[in-house]
Amino acid sequence: MGRRILFLGPPGAGKGTQAARLARALGVPHISTGDMLRQAVSEGTELGKRADAIMKAGDLVPDDLVVAMVQERLGKEDAACGYLLDGFPRNVTQAEALDAATGGTAVEVTILLDVSEDELVARLLSRAGELGRADDNEDTIRTRQRIYREETEPLIGYYPARGVSVIPIDGLGTIEDVFARIVSSLAEEDG
Ligand code: AMP
Repeated sequence: MGRRILFLGPPGAGKGTQAARLARALGVPHISTGDMLRQAVSEGTELGKRADAIMKAGDLVPDDLVVAMVQERLGKEDAACGYLLDGFPRNVTQAEALDAATGGTAVEVTILLDVSEDELVARLLSRAGELGRADDNEDTIRTRQRIYREETEPLIGYYPARGVSVIPIDGLGTIEDVFARIVSSLAEEDG
């Protein structure tokens, strides 16, 4: 079953967890630009060297670098029958570049995971304690929330204006609860 799904939502909403589960359930690759960039950093590639400090500060890696990375990934065979995009596009420039590269067919449906900002900061700080991600401290978390509001949130209007529906999902609750909401909303959308 081919599906091209985009996950949107503020940092800490649980996007990564839900996207990984849904990708597994649908049998499509989970394409997370954050994961790809963290891997580039850990491997010390040219891209990783350029991205490292930017990511630690919670800022966005330059659009041209990320767009090229995603285009290469989408060209791989496993993405031919659908994929789940997580963390990309992050702004309108990236969305336009993706549309230009694919004739506007890259995203069929968007899932918006919604959680209040106070809950997000609490979750991200507790994740910092557990995983020790370099970009999980309070200043960086606030920066990432601000960038989300300013740069990423406009995509919530961008896609519907192009005939791609955005399905809002309440991100509060257990991982299982939220996952069940996503699955039933997608089924309804297909309905
Ligand atoms: P994430 O795991 O999606 O929260 O991404 C972690 C960090 O990687 C972000 O704070 C950015 O620094 C960088 N990043 C991930 N995806 C993108 C993107 N599409 N454009 C620019 N920077 C990105």
